[in-house]
This record gives sequence, C-alpha cells and structure tokens, in this order.
Amino acid sequence: MRVRQEESTFSAVSEPAPALAVLRNELKYGLRFLVRDTLSYERRIQTLLGQERLSKERLDSVTNRLLVDTLRAAVRRIPRYRSLKTDFNVASVREALVEHFPIVDRLDLTSRPGDHYPYEGVPRAWTIVGRTSGTSGTPVQMFRSLDSVLWENAIVGRHFHWSGYRPGMRRAYLRGDLVVPIDRSTPPYWFHNRYNNQLIVSSRHLRDGCVDDIIEALAKFAPFMMEAYPSTAYELALLLEQRNAFLEIPYVYTGSEPLYPHQRQLIEARLTTCVMDHYGMAERIAYATECEHGNLHLNTDYSYVEIVDDDGQPTDGEGHIVGTTFHNTVMPLVRYRMSDRTRWRPGSCACGRTYPMIEPVSGKYEDTLFGSQGQRISPSVVTFAFKALRGIRYSQVAQVAADTWEIRVVPEAGFNEAERNRLIENVRKLVDPGLRVIVREVDEIARTSAHKYRWIVNESKPES
Ligand SMILES: [Zn+2]
Repeated sequence: MRVRQEESTFSAVSEPAPALAVLRNELKYGLRFLVRDTLSYERRIQTLLGQERLSKERLDSVTNRLLVDTLRAAVRRIPRYRSLKTDFNVASVREALVEHFPIVDRLDLTSRPGDHYPYEGVPRAWTIVGRTSGTSGTPVQMFRSLDSVLWENAIVGRHFHWSGYRPGMRRAYLRGDLVVPIDRSTPPYWFHNRYNNQLIVSSRHLRDGCVDDIIEALAKFAPFMMEAYPSTAYELALLLEQRNAFLEIPYVYTGSEPLYPHQRQLIEARLTTCVMDHYGMAERIAYATECEHGNLHLNTDYSYVEIVDDDGQPTDGEGHIVGTTFHNTVMPLVRYRMSDRTRWRPGSCACGRTYPMIEPVSGKYEDTLFGSQGQRISPSVVTFAFKALRGIRYSQVAQVAADTWEIRVVPEAGFNEAERNRLIENVRKLVDPGLRVIVREVDEIARTSAHKYRWIVNESKPES
C-alpha cells in the first residue's frame, strides 16, 4: 500500500466530534492565531530574514545591541543585579557580561526566587508564565513579556521559512496536544485548525485500530510540512513500516527531544521527507535551527550563547550551554547554564547563513547512557547493536545502574532466545564489553507524562 498525496479540499471528518470539544479547540486556536500570528508577525519575520546573511561583523553588532538591552533590563528588573552601576555599551558589552554577571542555573532560581525573579517571584495577574517540563526536577517558572512571546513565534516561523513553507500552506502537527479525548475510538483523531490551516493529530492515537485512519487523513490533507516530536514522528514511521506504507510530507520539523540517527533515517524513508531539527528550551536561552545542509545554526539574534567548561571558562571543546535571553524585558535570564552540552562547529555553511554552527546537543543526564567506566556512550553506537536483529517492534535502552543496562523489548514474531543473546552480545562487542546487559520483554514502553516515547533513558542516580 502506498498512500498518495491528493490535491483535494480537506474533509476527513467522518464523524462529528463532541460539539463542546470542537468549540473549545476553535476558541483556543483562534485566540492563539489572533495573538501570535497577526500582531506584527510578518514584520518580525522579515527582520530576522534580513539578519541571517549579514556579514559576521554586522550580525555581531545586532547581537551586542540586543545584549545591551537585556543587561539594562536585568539591572532594572532582577534584584540580584540591582546594585550594578555599569553603563553597558555596545562595544564592550560581552566583556561586561562576563565581568559582572556570574553563571546561574536552575538551582539559583528555585532556591532564591526573591533574588532572581521580578515581583518577588509572584506573577502579577497579567504576567505570562511559562514553565520548564520538569523532566529533570521541579518545573521552573519563567515570566515572559508579550514582546518575547511574539519574537519566539517569529523565530519559529523563520525556521519554517527555510524549507519554503509560508503561512497558509497546509501543515500537520503531531506533538502532545490533547485535541480529542484519549479514549476516543472512532475518527476523527484530529482537529483542523482553520486559522493556521493546520491538521492537529492526536499522538495518543498512534496505535493499531486508529492509525490507519490517521494515515489516510494525513494523505488526504497532504501537508507541506509536519511539526512533531522525534518520538512521535518515529512512531508514525514504524507503524507505516509495519504496513509497508509510505506518506509524502516534504518537511518534518522536529524538536523538544533528542533525535537519534536511526529515528531520522526511518522518518525520512517512510514519510518521504527531509527532517529539519531544532534545539530550544522553555528557558529560551538558546535556539539552534537545522538548515537544508544539515547544519545546526545558533540564532544569535535570539539569545547570546557561550559554551563553557566545568570551570565556567569559554572552550572550543565540549562544554555546557550558557545563554542570555533577548527580547524578554520582564524577566531576562542572564548567563543561565543548561545541563545540555555541545561544542562549536568551525567553518561556514554552504547555505550562506552567517549564524555560527554547533554540534548536535547531547547530554541531559536522563537522556545519556554511560559505559562501565563512566564514559558517555554515543546513541549512534548503540543503534549498531540493533542492526539486523529480528522481531523487535519497539525498544528502550535504560541505564538502571552504573554498569547495567536494561533493554526493554516489545517483541513480535521472530524474537526468540537466539535474537535475545545476539542483542546482548552485540552490546558487549560493539559498545562496551564491561556492561551488564539485561533484556526484558514488555507489553509496551512506558510513556512520559507528555506522552513521549524515549528510546534512551537513564534511570540511575547521578554520581555527585
Ligand atoms: Zn546552513
């Protein structure tokens, strides 16, 4: 079976969803459209597009000017910096940043909110509040200005621009949104947001019994691009593979989770697509976007990013991402350190954009596997251990102790003792001979609260 795109008006709703749920969706996405997509959206996108190919010197001065605005706002708004008397200027702002602002992290915000938040940490009635997902601890609140929300949306929109997508073109969405009740067992398992011409598909319904209708709806809607988590796009690709089916979606935009090479490969093959990944976070201290040449460009008009070693010194090797937000005058975050790690990629990109490049970001502890000697293991290496094995429908590699991995397998026909032993041998031979490897057969892989399927998960306690 090969599902083809058709040029047709979309009408895949075969049974009306409950009126109240539809009304709620209409209101939510209609309001979101009004706020985000009409207030000067196009002007902001044009500004960003105009900056991406400036000479390095001119782009640097754009960054410096934004950094000055942020530091002035930080002194005004954040108690910890209030006593700083420095008058920041464009020529020396990077030096002033390093000299006067220490690196901070999540713990500073949660343990001393009075020092790091405006309004003593209590949002006003009109404050826009964002939260981190809390996958690695307590969620952290971020207060945002409306201006920063609009810039965020334009930054995302500019990345869409890189593929040729323009507002109004058909796009699909396969992330965590609850658009239909989770126990619904008749289509539609999606909602058509007509304000953005966007088909929002329920990722909770990516399962046998529902997915054939979803595949048909996507084929009929024929989106130019789809936004997805790596895990949800991969899940759709796996279900297509099991049906020997294909979709044709020219671009898939991924983010919010690590994208592993084996996932990218299957997504590109089964969705007949080009994956455009990005790296960002709720703290909004860094945003990197993959271009059509596969390079990850750091958007230097979004935030100011440093890569520092364990002593907080700049490094050309691998280090932590430390970033300073732009555009948010309500609560600027200054030199905020993530647990994520990367390094600068030297050189320039054939796409012609001036933004510096970074290597793929790794290393949230809970997304990282370690070998028996405590060394970090590249997920790409782990994928080799699975090559040529039969009978594995889904898998998850979990670090359960310092020297122990548990590989959870949802088996299908063909998985037997021999395959199980080959998997264990492969890990020892290709990854690390000192590892203790347990293979456990399970009915399904447990999801996170946001319904994400994580292929790699570290469940052991960090040493420190
Ligand atoms: Zn590029």
